[in-house]
Amino acid sequence: MTFEKTAVDEFNTMMGVSPEEMVKRLVDAGADIVGANCGNGSEDMTDIVKKIRSCNSNIPVLIQANAGIPVYHDGKIRYGETPEQMAVVAEKLIAAGANIIGGCCGTTPLHIAKIAERVRLYNH
Ligand SMILES: [Zn+2]
Repeated sequence: MTFEKTAVDEFNTMMGVSPEEMVKRLVDAGADIVGANCGNGSEDMTDIVKKIRSCNSNIPVLIQANAGIPVYHDGKIRYGETPEQMAVVAEKLIAAGANIIGGCCGTTPLHIAKIAERVRLYNH
């Protein structure tokens, strides 16, 4: 699901569902994996993983962050997180409890390659 950060640093979907409520509802419905996609750069995704883990320590968690929040500049949409920056935060995502890491808007094959490289080192 996609979460937006609120003015009080909480996260909700556009329909007002918190990460904790998502976990309960989706696990009750039989989900094998839960997670968050889009809407946030990787740093904020770390907070979402912590919220998911605060209410469920077993369910596999998938995270697909944007390469930062999009910025419109010179007629183009740009994403500020470099492959190296996303790779560094991937370690924080794993430490927080994420199991599967991908990317959403603004991520490139190089972002994924750098994340994979970092995750392999982390797991050794
Ligand atoms: Zn996206």
